[in-house]
Order: sequence, then structure tokens, then C-alpha cells
Amino acid sequence: MEEIKRLILNQENEEDRVISLSLRPERLDDFVGQPDLVSGLRVAITAAQKRNEPLEHTLFSGPPGLGKTSLAHIIANEMNRRITVTSGPAIDRAGDFIGILTNLEEGDVLFIDEIHRLSKTVEEFLYPAMENFKIDFIVDKGPYAKTINFNLKPFTLIGATTRSGLLTTPLRDRFGIFYHLEFYSQQDLSSIISTSAGKLNVAIDSDACLGLALRARGTPRIANRLLRRSRDYAQVNSNKNHIDLKIVNEAMKALRIDPQGLDELDRRLLTIIKTNYSGGPVGIEALAATLNEETDTIEDVIEPYLLKAGFLRRTSRGRELTPMAISHLGIK
Ligand code: ADP
Repeated sequence: MEEIKRLILNQENEEDRVISLSLRPERLDDFVGQPDLVSGLRVAITAAQKRNEPLEHTLFSGPPGLGKTSLAHIIANEMNRRITVTSGPAIDRAGDFIGILTNLEEGDVLFIDEIHRLSKTVEEFLYPAMENFKIDFIVDKGPYAKTINFNLKPFTLIGATTRSGLLTTPLRDRFGIFYHLEFYSQQDLSSIISTSAGKLNVAIDSDACLGLALRARGTPRIANRLLRRSRDYAQVNSNKNHIDLKIVNEAMKALRIDPQGLDELDRRLLTIIKTNYSGGPVGIEALAATLNEETDTIEDVIEPYLLKAGFLRRTSRGRELTPMAISHLGIK
């Protein structure tokens, strides 16, 4: 069950972290899909290079696993600069943050994941750092207090967030470039799966790629994860390093992922709305309590795909099942 839940929740674990390093696209040319974002970013990077300046501060928003971290690494690679990686919740003291900022070299990329979770104090340090590459901090207290100004080297801040709505306006306004990542098409996911299979040294048929793409909830991280589980399944059950459609179907059945890509947790959420709340509308708090999950998990991880795929509708009075969801549950 843990394995299934982990697969579903789309959170990165240790295995993902290690493997995603090898599967991560290195250059903008390797980044599949998101055509408007890729072409816009290419122009901005080329222009910054021509002016010999760092790229403007850039914000990426969108559900987990769509490529925000990969893009930050790609930008550093394309600009030929170093990258420092941290996250909103990891910087809990202003002192730590000053250390990070003062260590940046000219043109370096500072990547802050989950930037909507920065503390207020740290966020206030960030404003002048982003705007004028300066920080002011107060040392000592009372009559001995003095402000020290510190000049930073011009750098590029790249922020990633699953919830751009939670960002404060002053922070959002300080980003020159802002892109929202969309769920990927099945064709794009197929192409990501086929490239990843090559990197993992496993053969895969094209209909098997599509079979996995259909179930990947529009998300490259899930696509790669389902590919790895299918590879395990092929190696254990058929003793082959070759994934065909039959293997995909069997592996997905074992993981209880249905042909629409809905998993245990998706189905539980839809079923609860149907049985406990007569199909909705139901408020997020009530839903979270019945499902025994955090509201954040529902809003960031489970719900976006269900809304996008047309299983769920969000109204002013709460979440509601669509006729498609009701007939899907009926079939189950
Ligand atoms: P996020 O930061 O949005 O949670 P990541 O950048 O960590 O997502 O992406 C998760 C994994 O999905 C990456 O390691 C990479 O293997 C794959 N991936 C994401 N986007 C793409 C893409 N556009 N093309 C190819 N692979 C991708």
C-alpha cells in the first residue's frame, strides 16, 4: 500500500531523486513539450547572454513533477553558470539565507523550490536582494544597533511553486519572467517515456509507451515512475528487459491504476464525494477530513489532474462530481 500511495502522491522520494538525476533533461533542446515556455525562455536566455547579464528572475508555477526543477538546472546549464538549490521551508533563519546570498557569484542561479513557503522575515530580505542586489541587516540591539549594507553580485533567482496564488504580490511582482506549466499531452509523455527507456537501457514498444502515457496523469515524473515499475515487472515476471503492452497492462493492474490513469486515491476521493456527499458540492475541509488527507495534498497533488481531466468541477460551494466521474465509478 505504501508503494501505491507513494506512486500516487507524486512526491519525490530517494529513488526518484537519484534516478531523476540521470533522467533529467540537461538542455532546453531536450525539454519535451511546453512549447510557449521553451521558446520564450530561449529568447530570454539568448538576449541575456548577448547583453552579458544574468537572466531576469524567473518564476515557474504548476503541479508537482511537471519540470520546474529541471528547468532551473537547464537555465544554469544554458547560461553556463553554477546553481544553488534550496527550498522555502529549508530556509528558516534569515542568517542562513544571508549566507546563501553572499556566497553567490556573478550570474549564479539560486533556485528556491516551494517559494510560497518562505517565512515572512526571509521574504523581506529577498525584496532588496532581488531588486538591487543589496541586503541590509541590523546587528546588535538598542543603542548599539547598526545597519550593515551588503552588495551582492547580480544573480538570477528562480522560484518554483505549486501555488502561485499563495505568493504575496510584492514577491510575485519582482519576477521578470513568469510561466505556468501545463499538464503534458499523451504524445509528449510518450516521447519522454521512450527517451527515459533508452537512458535506463530497457527496450519498450511504442504501444507500450502510449499505454503508460495514458496513465501518467499528464505528469513526466509519474510517467518515469510507471516506466520503472513496468521495467521491474518485465524483469521479474517475463525475465526480459523488454516492455510490451501486455506487461504494461499487467503492471498497471498490479498497481491498481486504471486505464484513465486514476489510482486508488483518486477513486477514493471521487467515491467519497459520491457516497458521503451525494456527488457534491462539498467543501475542501470536509473532504480532507473524510479522506484523512491534508487539504494541501488534495489541492496541490490530487485535485489538479481530476479537474483538468474533467472528473471534478470546482464551484463556489465546493467540489462536485461530473457525469463522467459518475459513469467512471459506475464501471468500476
Ligand atoms: P518539479 O520540479 O516540477 O516537481 P521536476 O523538474 O523534478 O519537476 O521533474 C520531475 C522529473 O520529470 C524530472 O527528473 C525529469 O526526469 C522529468 N521531466 C519533467 N519535465 C520534463 C520534460 N519536459 N521533458 C523531459 N523530462 C521531464
